[in-house]
Amino acid sequence: MSKLHQETLVTRYGVNSDANHGAVIPPLYLSSTFAFPRFGEKGAYDYTRSGNPTRDHLGGALAAAEGGAGGVVTASGMSAVHLVTQLLQPGDLLMAPPDCYGGCHRLLSAAARKGQFELDWVELWNSESAAARIREQAPRMVWIETPSNPLLRITDIEHIAAAAHEVGALVVADNTFLSPAGQQPLALGADIVVHSTTKYINGHSDVVGGAVIAADAAILEELEWWANCLGVTGAPFDSFQAMRGLRTLGVRYRQHQENAERVAAALQEEDLVECLYYPGLKSHPGHEVAARQQNGFGAMLSFELAASHEEIPVFLNALRLFTLAESLGGVESLVAHPGSMTHAAMSEEDQAAAGISSRLLRLSVGIEHAEDLVADLKNAFAAVRDARAGLSVRHIA
Ligand SMILES: *Cc1c(COP(=O)(O)O)cnc(C)c1O
Repeated sequence: MSKLHQETLVTRYGVNSDANHGAVIPPLYLSSTFAFPRFGEKGAYDYTRSGNPTRDHLGGALAAAEGGAGGVVTASGMSAVHLVTQLLQPGDLLMAPPDCYGGCHRLLSAAARKGQFELDWVELWNSESAAARIREQAPRMVWIETPSNPLLRITDIEHIAAAAHEVGALVVADNTFLSPAGQQPLALGADIVVHSTTKYINGHSDVVGGAVIAADAAILEELEWWANCLGVTGAPFDSFQAMRGLRTLGVRYRQHQENAERVAAALQEEDLVECLYYPGLKSHPGHEVAARQQNGFGAMLSFELAASHEEIPVFLNALRLFTLAESLGGVESLVAHPGSMTHAAMSEEDQAAAGISSRLLRLSVGIEHAEDLVADLKNAFAAVRDARAGLSVRHIA
């Protein structure tokens, strides 16, 4: 049989593997401990922190989806990030983009302050200058996150990985924003993929989890050793849930992307939208790289509302289908105000430097009917216009 497609691999992963009862979907093993068959003899599993069949299932399926040697499932995306930093020694240089996920920015900064490694913030989306800096500084690890949050900047994984490998650096890619359905960093030269499975992989906003997938078996073994040592491995129940989500990733992802295209097209025609950030637009600076390295353009977008500070709540309060909440990648559509929510920890100056204005809004486009989503946005824009008209009428009176 020819090589199976990702949808087939993950949908069927472990199906019909239960030898006890022929359960079609593999059972959930909650047990914290496993019996030794005999004195001096150990079975495949002994203790759930170290290994668990349900968690291993998810790790195996994610490795299949990303094309890696194996996967370590962790309790959260942040514990996956923490786990990968265990590969660094004091004095090793880590290069990471200044606009990486806020939690990663905080963790990497705090660990570097404690001397766990050296840290250099590099604008990896500027391919040529970033590659030159990598060759000059010879880091031990380069941390890529593409598309970035909330401005959807695109980093050329192949280009950055080639420069990093010239100097013997490990390349890590946080693939949370696209999922393995949208991008396969290992095939583009990355050594390690990190996921917050909380987002598209689980996809139903009811689990917090993470994963690390490695291309190389020796690196995988080191990560597994640290995961057990630190106790950052994921819970069996969460793994079961995330596995259930992963089985439908392909079909969800297609709908997310199709809806995002429709929403982007509607936003492009809207007078109250300024600066639409969506890699699917030809005018987006990362469009060509995204078209080359991604499968589609994802379902995250952001835009600046051409409105006053007072009008932002008018718009947000008028939305009925986009829920005001952090996070992304669930079946339900969300809207976030990065300045006061996801990126509130940044100072006003840092926000301005990162291009996050107080009028910036971020959408995670869900899988509701696209027409309903577009109508919801149009209705909220109309509410801003109505409020404006109301205000000017009062001024005249
Ligand atoms: C959410 C997220 C994380 C952190 O994951 P948690 O599951 O919240 O710990 C890391 N990276 C990116 C890009 C994310 O979106």
